[in-house]
Amino acid sequence: MAKLKEKKPLHLANKMNIKKGDTVVILTGKDRTKVGTVSRALPQTGKVIIEGLNIVKKHVKPQGQTRQGGVIEKAMPLNVSNVMLKCTECGEATRVSRERRVVGADQKEHSVRVCKKCHKVIEDRTRS
Ligand SMILES: [Zn+2]
Repeated sequence: MAKLKEKKPLHLANKMNIKKGDTVVILTGKDRTKVGTVSRALPQTGKVIIEGLNIVKKHVKPQGQTRQGGVIEKAMPLNVSNVMLKCTECGEATRVSRERRVVGADQKEHSVRVCKKCHKVIEDRTRS
């Protein structure tokens, strides 16, 4: 029986070129030009959270006896269009293209991200 092509769920249709563990440069806002590591990628919303950057101080009121009031610091998600991936090979902030190349120990073709500047495969730290 022929297998029907499955429709991708919406959140997968919005595929991002930036993943957890990537080193990125922030392009906008008060942390512009700062470099950080992606601690979470949020493909559903097209955003990323960068470790220790884009911190917003939130003032919270005490709530009963369970929560103390005060200021908490929270890393806010940034839109992927406001960050640029730093290439693991040449160290430049770059846009990426996707290609199928033979990489890794299994000698099979994978969809990989390629640096637009040095044309080398950008390391994927979520895969090892
Ligand atoms: Zn490069």
